[in-house]
Amino acid sequence: MRALNRFIQVDWQQGTVQAEAGVTLAEILAISIPQGWFLSVTPGTQFATLGGAIANDVHGKNHHLRGTFGNHVRRLGLLRHNEGVLTCSPTEHPEFYTSTIGGLGLTGIIVWAEIQLIPIRTSQIDSTVVRFGNLGEFFSLSAELDHQHEYSVAWIDCLAKGTQTGRGVFIVGDHARYGSLEVDERAKLSMPLTPPVSLINNLSLQAFNNMYWRVHPAQSTRKRGDYEPFFYPLDRILHWNRIYGRRGFQQYQCVIPDAVAEVVMHELLEAIADSGQGSFLAVLKRCGNIASPGLLSFPLPGTSLALDFPQKADLVRLFARLDAIVRESGGRLYPAKDAHMTGGDFRKAYPAWERLEALRDPSLNSHFWKRVTA
Ligand SMILES: Cc1cc2nc3c(=O)[nH]c(=O)nc-3n(C[C@H](O)[C@H](O)[C@H](O)COP(=O)(O)OP(=O)(O)OC[C@H]3O[C@@H](n4cnc5c(N)ncnc54)[C@H](O)[C@@H]3O)c2cc1C
Repeated sequence: MRALNRFIQVDWQQGTVQAEAGVTLAEILAISIPQGWFLSVTPGTQFATLGGAIANDVHGKNHHLRGTFGNHVRRLGLLRHNEGVLTCSPTEHPEFYTSTIGGLGLTGIIVWAEIQLIPIRTSQIDSTVVRFGNLGEFFSLSAELDHQHEYSVAWIDCLAKGTQTGRGVFIVGDHARYGSLEVDERAKLSMPLTPPVSLINNLSLQAFNNMYWRVHPAQSTRKRGDYEPFFYPLDRILHWNRIYGRRGFQQYQCVIPDAVAEVVMHELLEAIADSGQGSFLAVLKRCGNIASPGLLSFPLPGTSLALDFPQKADLVRLFARLDAIVRESGGRLYPAKDAHMTGGDFRKAYPAWERLEALRDPSLNSHFWKRVTA
């Protein structure tokens, strides 16, 4: 949808932007930051488009405070094959507003959207990084620090075992109060070619995970930095996914309800460590209880774990084991990242799917939707 790339209207008093759906989040930031406004919610890539962010109702490091991207969509224009463009909001065609947010592109084509931004004084982020020794420490830190900061996320070493299961690095951040308003325009690096085999293997993972953990001091450290490395570290290296070789990788992202999150995260990490198939940069994030307007939104009050695995035949066995743990816990997988979820798991975890199916534009469908609703 990148051809739909024009801004329609901006209001720098109220911090609202109305733009065509193919405008990227980076393009929005490029005009909003100098005016003192930032995206209310941003995923870990600024290359996502406005339409893509709505269709998957993406979440970011401030889910505990601001909910999902959909919580900040005021209105959107939806093109349906026999109805033209409908303006959808909580009061106009509300059924299409709620089904299009997180609607996986099935209710129609989002042609434009109007979103609410948040005010910032500077484009820098004050962050604090603290290392933790195991999962229990992660949950204590999260309980103590999340509500004090706008952003919070943790990286964990999913190869660590025993008393060190779930060790990692906790990162919190806030928009700095003093500084300049600058759009980060540093040149990007690029992975020039796809190697025949993955450069991420058990040996390199073990070494990297170990080094990344050790390089962070046990005492918490504070720093001020630009917003880009804080929010979008992978965007700095174009075609970073090539590092996984020709077979690529699969992401596994689940969310586990609060009541059982700690125990279940333990089980998941043990199952991964036992399988010997580590993930480069596993990400843990506590999600809050702000409900999204989206019918099929992924986050729920609990903890989300996201892992990237080099594609291999034995992932099937590992994913089946992880799925069973997630199912038992009442958790769910993230459709945006999924290539394997069973129809049974999807329909149980997203009971509103039939309402989305009833509102699906009959001219649109996807492999994902056919697989999980069959
Ligand atoms: C490095 C990286 C980090 C990420 N971090 C996060 C994160 O922190 N949180 C998170 O939630 N997600 C994250 N994601 C996932 C990403 O935010 C979503 O997949 C997002 O939807 C991608 O947007 P896109 O514009 O590239 O969409 P595409 O990949 O082009 O499309 C994705 C889906 O959106 C639909 N869609 C796109 N445009 C429209 C439109 N105009 N109208 C209707 N449907 C449309 C498509 O049909 C498709 O189903 C990350 C992805 C990457 C690569």
